[in-house]
Amino acid sequence: MSLFITSLASGSNGNCYYIGNNTEAILVDAGITCKEIETRIKRLSLSIEKIKAIFISHEHADHIRGVPVLAKKYNLPVYITTQTLKNGRLHIDKKLARSFNAFDPISIGDLDITAFPKYHDAADPYSFTIRFKDLKVGVFTDIGQPCQHLINHFSQCHAAFLESNYDDDMLDTGSYPYFLKTRIRGGKGHLSNKQALELFTSHRPDFMSHLFLSHISKNNNCPNLVEQLFNQHAGNTKIIIASRFQETAVYKLSNPAVNISTQLPVTMAIFPVSASQLSFSFDDEMKSA
Ligand SMILES: [Zn+2]
Ligand SMILES: [Zn+2]
Repeated sequence: MSLFITSLASGSNGNCYYIGNNTEAILVDAGITCKEIETRIKRLSLSIEKIKAIFISHEHADHIRGVPVLAKKYNLPVYITTQTLKNGRLHIDKKLARSFNAFDPISIGDLDITAFPKYHDAADPYSFTIRFKDLKVGVFTDIGQPCQHLINHFSQCHAAFLESNYDDDMLDTGSYPYFLKTRIRGGKGHLSNKQALELFTSHRPDFMSHLFLSHISKNNNCPNLVEQLFNQHAGNTKIIIASRFQETAVYKLSNPAVNISTQLPVTMAIFPVSASQLSFSFDDEMKSA
């Protein structure tokens, strides 16, 4: 009756979120290479064989980069809409590409995954929730503005990966060209710290045990700032910074109440970061700050 969740990568250089029970798991997005996903899964003592499907939120490179190789190597179905497949120019075996409809749950073993639309500058973007028994987890990144769907789902989650992309002042005074600043904060870009905090403080359910602050901008934000900001309002919710450079620890959610002391003591060490992990493309940032 437990769920195990981790951010394998989060940010404009790659996103990949793992949610699984004892027998099966899914990935939301695969924006780092297959090799890097394998490395991080192994470091976390998770089993890649448990991963049964990949769900794709939208076509930006930081969400799909590793999909073709990973899907082919492990024969994994890829749940992706026709528009996202087309716009991402992804080459996936036809047998593996499966579409989905908003609000229609898809069952992967005992996990039920439901998509709902979001505001983002992509062809057909979705957020996902994953339900297992009475536990619910949300993956909410790359969101230009909160909508009623987001509020409804967030308020039902035991854990959530929530974008906290930029600090208003840092974006304002930063080096990005004006058009890009406008794009990021223009309602179809990304959620600011302020918007994420407002969602959290206004709509967090009492039972939300874990909040992963995600897709934190390298140039317009600071992980320590985000951590401090949310910790001031965290209450019983464990605040976790989802790094752009490495995986988080694996966190365990159990019914009925989820105890933050159930965090697995597996990966709190700081891993050496290779040059490739640190590589950063301004093109990616342009697409998805
Ligand atoms: Zn992104
Ligand atoms: Zn995006």
